[in-house]
Amino acid sequence: MQWALEISDKPGVFEPEPAFKYVGNMHGDEPLGRELVLLLADWLCDNYLKDPMASLIVDKIHLHLLPSMNPDGFAAQNGPTRNNAHDVDLNRDFPDQFFPQNNNEEKRQAETRAMMSWIRSTRFTASASFHEGALVANYPWDGNPDISQKYATSPDDSTFKYLAGVYANNHPVMSKSKEFVGGVTNGAAWYPLYGGMQDWNYLHGNCLDLTLEMNDQKWPHPTQIPRIWSEHRKSLLELVAATVKSGVHGRVMSSKKAQPLPASISVSGISHSMNASAEFGDYHRLLAPGQVYEVTASMAGYSSRSTFIFLPNHTAITLDFILDPLPAAAVEEEKKTPHTQAPGEKAETKTPVTKPGKTPPLTTEEMGSEEVIFRKPAKSLRNGLHSVDEEGGLGSSLPLRLIYLLPLVSVAAVLVCLFLASRGSYRYNTARQRLSRV
Ligand SMILES: [Zn+2]
Repeated sequence: MQWALEISDKPGVFEPEPAFKYVGNMHGDEPLGRELVLLLADWLCDNYLKDPMASLIVDKIHLHLLPSMNPDGFAAQNGPTRNNAHDVDLNRDFPDQFFPQNNNEEKRQAETRAMMSWIRSTRFTASASFHEGALVANYPWDGNPDISQKYATSPDDSTFKYLAGVYANNHPVMSKSKEFVGGVTNGAAWYPLYGGMQDWNYLHGNCLDLTLEMNDQKWPHPTQIPRIWSEHRKSLLELVAATVKSGVHGRVMSSKKAQPLPASISVSGISHSMNASAEFGDYHRLLAPGQVYEVTASMAGYSSRSTFIFLPNHTAITLDFILDPLPAAAVEEEKKTPHTQAPGEKAETKTPVTKPGKTPPLTTEEMGSEEVIFRKPAKSLRNGLHSVDEEGGLGSSLPLRLIYLLPLVSVAAVLVCLFLASRGSYRYNTARQRLSRV
């Protein structure tokens, strides 16, 4: 059984915001992630409305924290094990792009299936899992089709390098690594593996996932945890915040009825597109800064739109698209009532509420974003585009901790969090004593 916490000003509610996840303890004998995600949860809740970074993350991002992906390996009777109770390495159990050995999803381990279901349903923008035995931020691809140990370039190689750099550069030791230049490495260049989680996240969840090696020594002594936490804290926060402090964000709407459109967002030169959400038409496309990109929104039945943007350092860009329906789609839209579904939509359309004069969701003050509207829409439409994001501004509610069982069964929050924290520390210490080797 895997448990996760969601930290947000509106946990459990789908909002037009990026979602991020941290996954700990994928290998049962690498427990640091269990401790660090709980320390991170405590820090965010303690510092909300006091620290700008805590407020930014709580208000603008849905942060999901999974302390233990492999609780059976951690609690194994004869001491913690890397593999799960069926002696399977979960970081070799995902379907792989190059080899078919894991393609039968029904035969995957329960932990793997739960992760796949969670990733498919939550629409994460980015994430990372925690490991031990080195100090480095590792990014896809993890393997090559000829199983050689050499750099394997994914379509988003520059984006991955940027995100890994955000983590490493905010860590006082990782960035100065003698083993890994800049404290980052391509997975396959370090050692190729197949069936790993990070490649699957990117290919099937459009989630930019990193594998973070948190400490050279596995299972460090508990007295080391405060030092490790203080060294990693800024990196942990900045990587989450990168989902709103960088990249291109916006919404795609129909020009005829202001319906949100789950359009495909593609970037010239990157052969990996991502979709806007059906509910709000929002998208969050992370990209390496300092470059010019041509961004295109396209959807069947609508005229595609493209525009060039320059993505500066330390700044996100807001880029909304208004797509004109082709004649057939225009007729379809005309037939619809406000409560019917847009093309390809799964959920009910939430028609934007017009609130003139409100501040857009990603403001220059809050995260230094620059706004670009591809085509200037009618005033009422443009107001509508922004107003959907505006509920629950800073100070409207305290950060709630939603704890849910995959897939998403809500339970009382704070008590379980405290239980997990105390249980986690207890188990960490007692299990460490039982560990025969590190
Ligand atoms: Zn590991």
